Amino acid sequence: GPPQRESNNEKLMVVLRIRPMTNDERSRGYRIVTEQVDEKMVVLLDPKGGGKKQDILRKKRTSERQYLFDAAFGGDSTQEQVYNKTTKPLVKSVLEGYNACVFAYGATGGGKTHTMVGKSDNPGCMVRALNDLFQAMETSPEHVFKVTMSYLEVYNENIRDLLNPKSGTLDLRDDSKGKNIQVAGLSEIATNSTEEVMRLLQRGNKERTQEPTAANKTSSRSHALLMVNVKQTAKSRVGGKGAVKSGRLYMIDLAGSERASATQNRGKRLKEGAHINRSLLALGNCINALAEGKAKFVNYRDSKLTRLLKDPLSGNCHTVMIAHVSPVDKHRDESRNTLVYADRAKNI
Ligand code: ADP
Ligand code: MG
Repeated sequence: GPPQRESNNEKLMVVLRIRPMTNDERSRGYRIVTEQVDEKMVVLLDPKGGGKKQDILRKKRTSERQYLFDAAFGGDSTQEQVYNKTTKPLVKSVLEGYNACVFAYGATGGGKTHTMVGKSDNPGCMVRALNDLFQAMETSPEHVFKVTMSYLEVYNENIRDLLNPKSGTLDLRDDSKGKNIQVAGLSEIATNSTEEVMRLLQRGNKERTQEPTAANKTSSRSHALLMVNVKQTAKSRVGGKGAVKSGRLYMIDLAGSERASATQNRGKRLKEGAHINRSLLALGNCINALAEGKAKFVNYRDSKLTRLLKDPLSGNCHTVMIAHVSPVDKHRDESRNTLVYADRAKNI
């Protein structure tokens, strides 16, 4: 059988989600080539093989491949199932005073924004995480909470505040005392309403930079990062000195990986250029270095995104990657790139 993966204390949990086929794809006669096999396994089928899920374990065609992850979700998976497996445990960590990080990886159209933000009637991980934090806030007998959120974009190595776009390009400041880098001038919103969070995220997403020239209008080279700061003070110490516990949850809807992976295939050079997303490549390089056990030599300073994510990428906290793929033959190459990338990240 396939190798089993131990899921004990690994720093990076890698999860794969396959979105359902759209009506449009069905009407065009596209075929399914990426399928969930079981709760941890995914198979990439031969596009001409006409394979069925049941056959996979018995007979293996040359261009069929199985991939094993910490968890695999198929087209029928719910937002709640994905949240419970990936982000809910991180919320617990943050409530214990740690930092934690979840990021959505994959090509444009793979379902990243659906998983992270979702819709009002079917919210994603960002909204559910805040909802859980608000719940903890209301029910905690011993602590007073302060939860604030910031939502920013990294586009073309510029940082913009998605909740206050008027403030223009923002700079990063290393904080010598704290473990967290600061974004100068970034707004921090205190709220305890899940509905308001959804509204803020949807409004923020409308501010994300779209590429005017892209054939696919929704193609995006913009990374959206939601940072949630949680400070807890013991009720007995309110007004006294010092926060008892303080943690930060990073939730990231990454730019589409399609061009970065094509570039990586041509040679892993980090170059500035019209079609290269510096932050996404730097993230890939950090993940590669971590997977090879060379964490000391990881160059976080290569991009804005890796500077922002230095703490979670240093292996100091729990990080979850949710890789996204389309199920259909038309996107098979992109899906394969994503599966290989996510498979490689499992070593961390
Ligand atoms: P990305 O952000 O990776 O570009 P989107 O999240 O925008 O992709 O998803 C592309 C389309 O597919 C959207 O219309 C979205 O609503 C839909 N979609 C993605 N994932 C799912 C899912 N798990 N269930 C239902 N619809 C989905
Ligand atoms: Mg998106």
